[in-house]
Amino acid sequence: MLKKITAIFCSVVMAVSMAGCQKEQKASNAVTAGGDGKLCEEYTELTAFYNANKSTDDGQHPLFAEAAKITNVGLEVTISKNNSDFTQAFNLMVAGGDMPDIVMTYDPVSFSQLGEEGAFVPLNEYIDEFAPNVKKILNENPEIKERITAADGNIYYLPHIPGGVASTGWFIRQDWLDKLGLPVPENTEDLYNVLTAFRNQDPNGNGLKDEVPVFEDDSMNELFTLWGARPAWYIEDGKVNYGPYTSSYKTAVENIVKWFSEGLIDREIFTRAGSPRERMLGDNIGGCTVNWFGSTANYNDSLKDIIPGFSFVPMAPPSGVVLSRRPISSLYGWGVSASSKNIELAIKYLDFWYSEKGSTMMNFGIEGTHYDVVDGKPIFKAELLADPNFQKNLKNFGIQLDIGFKQNFDYERQWINSIAESGMDMYEKNDYFVEQFPYIIGWMNSDEIDEYKKLQTQIDTYSQEMLQKWILGAEKLDETYEQYLKQLEKFGVKRLIELQQEVYDRHN
Ligand code: CA
Repeated sequence: MLKKITAIFCSVVMAVSMAGCQKEQKASNAVTAGGDGKLCEEYTELTAFYNANKSTDDGQHPLFAEAAKITNVGLEVTISKNNSDFTQAFNLMVAGGDMPDIVMTYDPVSFSQLGEEGAFVPLNEYIDEFAPNVKKILNENPEIKERITAADGNIYYLPHIPGGVASTGWFIRQDWLDKLGLPVPENTEDLYNVLTAFRNQDPNGNGLKDEVPVFEDDSMNELFTLWGARPAWYIEDGKVNYGPYTSSYKTAVENIVKWFSEGLIDREIFTRAGSPRERMLGDNIGGCTVNWFGSTANYNDSLKDIIPGFSFVPMAPPSGVVLSRRPISSLYGWGVSASSKNIELAIKYLDFWYSEKGSTMMNFGIEGTHYDVVDGKPIFKAELLADPNFQKNLKNFGIQLDIGFKQNFDYERQWINSIAESGMDMYEKNDYFVEQFPYIIGWMNSDEIDEYKKLQTQIDTYSQEMLQKWILGAEKLDETYEQYLKQLEKFGVKRLIELQQEVYDRHN
């Protein structure tokens, strides 16, 4: 009942306050100028489908209630925490037809397809008028606008925008290098020599040849760069390429097979359960890896009393480049249902989280509770930072959620240690990052997406299988390589390259 009255009240006020505006005829509760203050005269509650599984409660985060004190808009989260599979819950909701006002996505391609079919609002039609903060960000960052614009030219979701640039980097046991009198490797040949020394000279000093010179958590992608190759799709001078279909890939695989057979690469790289990093570092046997700066550098704190002298530090990529960096915008965010009775208010609400006030709340929480302002900057309270469950605690409250907002890198700087910070700064300053493969699939129409998915699944699965067989010695590279190329062609690799090139060229 309250909602209905509010709707009537708001639309009356709107008719007065927005006389002459184009969107006047649309039903709306949006009555104020928006930005970062009150969005509606009467308290209104919007519903949202949100992935509560990423946190430990039911998604009714206290931060949403705090935001309501400012915006006059509450948020009732409709996903149940019993829905362990987000995609399944999403599909059920769409099939049921009973859509909440705001819907979150981890799959912009499907989301935009549904948008084109009329399920979600083309936000671009409203941004100028109702989302000044989003408008500003998209104007200042045209590459984000390009990335989130669907094949039909519309924008259906507003993304999470990560803070910072560097994500993962190379780490090496500095204490092992010191013990063996070796400098930090600066190129592939140096790295080979260092890893061989790790393998043969017992740097952990237990008398056993148990060292695993290089290990990776879930992929060995970065190793390909050591021989100038790329493990997957990449773009060079505006041309789309498939790494596993290039001659440099063969060279890289030859060398990876050699390193593997010599015991330089973790022999269980394809089969280790759990976190290889935890095991390799905790057991004092791993020498070198590529992984997230923050969490990897943390082992220097957690292992310092367990492994005397333990020092696992970032180093420049021996190849001079690194494949991963943070995206300009994440492939998750949220949009507005076309069936919402409060489309304009919902868009204003999404915009609030990009405003200065909303952004500070989503990044740092509540002043006095989670942070204090020091020299004009929000600084987390020391007791919060000291809690080992810091990140989880933030999420439980509703801070740093997977929603559309602009992350402030200062948030991360405050909880990572100085080792991680110096590594990230080194990578960013030297710009080691290769050009990121554009989100081409996001620009495809439905027919193109169908064709892409059909070809891509087969091609990727096959090339991954062959890579494993070569590394594990089940197939000989020289004997099977020509056949491998033919099989990729049979699966349509040339068409898949062409398709992506077409879409890429069209979008630019
Ligand atoms: Ca040893």
